[in-house]
Amino acid sequence: MKKKDKKRLYRIVLSAILLAVAVVVDHVGILSGVLEFSGFTPLILALYLIPYVIIGGGVLKEALQGIIHGQVFDENFLMGIATIGAFCTGEYAEGVFVMLFYSVGELFEHIAVGKSRNSIKALLSLQSDEATVIRNGESFTVDCDCVEVGERILVRPGEKIPLDAKICEGESTVDTSALTGESLPREVSVGDEIHSGCINLGGVIYADVTKRYEESTVSKILSLVEDSAQNKSKSESFITKFARFYTPAVVIAAALLAILPPLFIGIGDSSVWKEWVYRALTFLVISCPCALVISVPLSYFSGIGSASSRGILIKGSAYLDTLAHCDTIVFDKTGTLTEGRFRIDEVHLASNIDPKELLRLAALAEQFSNHPISRSIVEAAGEIDSSTPTTVEEIFGHGVKASVDGDILLVGNDKLIKKFGIIPLANTDHSTVVHVAKNGLYLGYIFISDKEKSGAREALASLRRAGIEKTVMLTGDRAAAGNQIGKQLGIDEIYTELLPDGKVSAIEKIIASQKNEKKVAYVGDGINDAPVITRADVGIAMGALGSDAAIEAADIVLMDDELSKITDTITLARRTRRIVIQNIVFALGVKAAVLVLGACGLVGLNAAVFADVGVAVIAILNSMRNLKK
Ligand code: ADP
Ligand code: MG
Repeated sequence: MKKKDKKRLYRIVLSAILLAVAVVVDHVGILSGVLEFSGFTPLILALYLIPYVIIGGGVLKEALQGIIHGQVFDENFLMGIATIGAFCTGEYAEGVFVMLFYSVGELFEHIAVGKSRNSIKALLSLQSDEATVIRNGESFTVDCDCVEVGERILVRPGEKIPLDAKICEGESTVDTSALTGESLPREVSVGDEIHSGCINLGGVIYADVTKRYEESTVSKILSLVEDSAQNKSKSESFITKFARFYTPAVVIAAALLAILPPLFIGIGDSSVWKEWVYRALTFLVISCPCALVISVPLSYFSGIGSASSRGILIKGSAYLDTLAHCDTIVFDKTGTLTEGRFRIDEVHLASNIDPKELLRLAALAEQFSNHPISRSIVEAAGEIDSSTPTTVEEIFGHGVKASVDGDILLVGNDKLIKKFGIIPLANTDHSTVVHVAKNGLYLGYIFISDKEKSGAREALASLRRAGIEKTVMLTGDRAAAGNQIGKQLGIDEIYTELLPDGKVSAIEKIIASQKNEKKVAYVGDGINDAPVITRADVGIAMGALGSDAAIEAADIVLMDDELSKITDTITLARRTRRIVIQNIVFALGVKAAVLVLGACGLVGLNAAVFADVGVAVIAILNSMRNLKK
């Protein structure tokens, strides 16, 4: 328990004891007849006022501050007038009790909110403030934000990786679980990227910093999670608006309830006035909307928190809501449904050139691209001379055009080669192909192939079990390659040979053909499909660790590339939605019932406050279910 919460607890216990003392003295005094006749009533009032001020002082102060700042009608105000009213009508004990119970509810609420914040705090603790840098051969410990890109850092075994960097010496295993939720450590060696927020489990590593502190993976994720509160779902912003109009309406209704009936029943009878004022106070207490105001945001917050501890970042409760309404999921192929690691099957030559040389030229042209095809070709070519003067233009959905050492190289698919007026060799329609041309001369082509991602079939099956009606695959790859993978996986609709803007129009068509306001999610890897991710009702990027573009564009970010996490996220979204609806229906239902009973004078202040706080606590506990894995 935090210090502040402990203080609250002490205050509750103290005022509960004092209230008990006051009640005993009051009753004994009345029974013995002493107080009633010897003018001690002010003493009794004082006895009750002490616990009231101890427990309610803060609430009254906040109510006053609210009035000063123009936000009159909050729950502090409701509690304030209800309890002061109780004192005015002589119900001292009830006035204190209402405050006391309200504080117990507040304490609960604080503990609950604190708990769900903790999972995000766990993320915060990933960020280390200090790094060990090597400057002029000596190591210094400095603040992370003093380290420049290109400087060399040292990460010892067991330490957190402070900044994003590229290993230049040493090898190790790193624990990425905090970012990805993946429990298996990853092996890294020279040339690999390491990300801030991971833990170095193995040996000493030296690495060159690739991003400044503010730009680092952990900082990005943190600001993302913090900003998620701003992207409110409809039900969440509804509650805020609701409270704004609801509370004043309730206060007016209570005032009418206190004034109107006595005017008709007995304008001169003080006991009638007392009765209706009391009913109005009960009405006020029970109508306090705190159960809704607290529990609805908390449900979303705990959902988002529990997701982030599993490496699923959700940029706002609005996206959780939309995802819960999805019945169609559209996938990118390469790197999403497939591994994105291409094997070179064959190299075909059209001119007399060495196959190794063809691969080398292709790799030189592809070396700066992030596309899975490029990375696979660069890897297959082995060592390349990266000092060769190269400028590259990447043409999305086509390939690359590069100037290498003065030669113009084209490396890409049929579309690319034809675009530059070169006729590719025929008979190449069975698998993914990369053509290579140099200075307008066709050199040959490389057949490459990719495997379906392990677990893809299970993931698609589990999506179907979770009630997803339709799966679609979009790809820029050729029809033969695309259809083969798509059919293997049992995808319902397959669209191939799409350019990036073709993917956007495909998703627009899918969205337009949706019935019953069901939503469409798109899952991609963020490499040249950012426009589609943005266009879908919910854009999901996977394998995002290290890819800023994907993190930026998507609404939901899966840090690793496990497809099964999509089902997890959908399940979570639906559960959150269910919990929110349960809370709204439950809170409004109980309130409506007690409101009517209170207005009819069938329940008193105590029962009202009990119902109010009880509903809030139950709703909060219900929201917390979402924190479980
Ligand atoms: P996908 O839909 O499979 O993710 P992309 O839209 O990224 O595919 O690319 C579509 C096609 O364009 C690829 O199948 C490939 O033929 C070609 N292509 C794109 N980028 C490159 C590249 N860097 N090198 C070679 N070919 C590329
Ligand atoms: Mg792609």
